[in-house]
Amino acid sequence: MAPASTAWDLAVVGAGPAGAATALGALHADPGLRVALLDRADFPRDKACGDGVAPHVLDLLADVGVTGLVDDRIPVDRLRLGRGGLVAERRTARPAWVVPRRILDARLADAAVAAGARLLRHRVRDLRQHPGAVVLDGELSAAVVVGADGAHSVVRRALGRPRGPVALALRGYAPVAPGRRGAQVIEFGTWHQPSYAWSFDCGDGLANVGYGELLHGDRPAPTRAHLLERLEGLLPGATEGGRHWAGHHLPLSTARWRPPSGRVLLAGDAACLVNPLTGEGIHYAVATGIAAGRAAAAALRDGRPERAGERYARATRRILLPHLRHTALAARLARSTCVLEAALRASAADQRVFDDFVELGLAWGRFTPAIALGLGRAFITPGRPTGRSQEPA
Ligand SMILES: Cc1cc2nc3c(=O)[nH]c(=O)nc-3n(C[C@H](O)[C@H](O)[C@H](O)COP(=O)(O)OP(=O)(O)OC[C@H]3O[C@@H](n4cnc5c(N)ncnc54)[C@H](O)[C@@H]3O)c2cc1C
Repeated sequence: MAPASTAWDLAVVGAGPAGAATALGALHADPGLRVALLDRADFPRDKACGDGVAPHVLDLLADVGVTGLVDDRIPVDRLRLGRGGLVAERRTARPAWVVPRRILDARLADAAVAAGARLLRHRVRDLRQHPGAVVLDGELSAAVVVGADGAHSVVRRALGRPRGPVALALRGYAPVAPGRRGAQVIEFGTWHQPSYAWSFDCGDGLANVGYGELLHGDRPAPTRAHLLERLEGLLPGATEGGRHWAGHHLPLSTARWRPPSGRVLLAGDAACLVNPLTGEGIHYAVATGIAAGRAAAAALRDGRPERAGERYARATRRILLPHLRHTALAARLARSTCVLEAALRASAADQRVFDDFVELGLAWGRFTPAIALGLGRAFITPGRPTGRSQEPA
């Protein structure tokens, strides 16, 4: 039986970037809403991640009144992409940030609380939908629920939604190698595709270093030792002095994204939104979180909480679907060594191509004419096996 009264207007399961953004989106639209932000962990808490934060994330947060989040951090505006001696290194159109998730997520959760959310320590295990409300663990009820509970989402499972392709990645913190200072360095794998190792300078003498690859059903998942070995193989010296190693799954997006309708919404990793080219997920988490929060607020304002999912789908599909189709295509093409190397040569040769690839990998970018032209040129121009290196412009 559904409980007689609804305790919360909106309950958000998970207080990572997607969950905090959901609360912020809802409360920015209607500061009077009763919003519960539930997380199984106390904050600050760690989350295995490369810690790379695209500038677009800050734009989205500014729209819901959150500014100054990274004012004490050092921006990184150099990006080096490489594979087996082929390098494209350039300044990015806008700097990115490398912010340990222990810091970033606590700041986001604080911002949500400052906006009026109640942060509650609670591990959600069960979700039941009743005609007038959604009940969590038989004790918390809400008119709308947003599942922002990450890669292994309980809410997604309760909705009976399958997960698509998954990658596995391991990260640690190690003294930044001299040749990798002030940069985000990505070295694509030469064995399993897609795969890459990274070193992202945190600006405090340490780099976030890691390695990840797509999991295939027909071969065993790599062990921690394999992941460390592959990281060291691609970026020699990266693991030296490394600490705080932690691994996690990345639920990759596909071209067939279908948000659920009704009172229960999904955002971020729970909605399987990690870029299949780059492993970027914070931008999607914040973007879909804010959209879910706004959709919930609008549906509640109309007295139709059961329409929240429909509103969310309308708001997200237009921008998200074309982008997801393009990234799915790009990720498929990038499995071919020839295409990957052509993309690196094209990025080394042309700033526009480089910038468009960065947009495709970090935000809402698409497969642009500049990318197609650049790839075409790279294919017809005979490439040297140890292609050109481009110093920052
Ligand atoms: C190794 C690695 C490197 C990555 N590097 C980058 C990068 O550099 N840049 C980037 O943008 N993305 C990166 N990603 C992806 C990024 O980490 C995720 O996309 C992002 O964390 C998604 O945010 P989220 O809020 O959806 O989920 P999460 O950050 O996973 O947050 C989910 C929250 O839900 C809580 N929770 C889970 N289950 C429950 C439950 N049952 N009840 C209550 N609470 C629950 C958890 O405690 C957690 O706080 C990386 C991922 C990995 C694994």
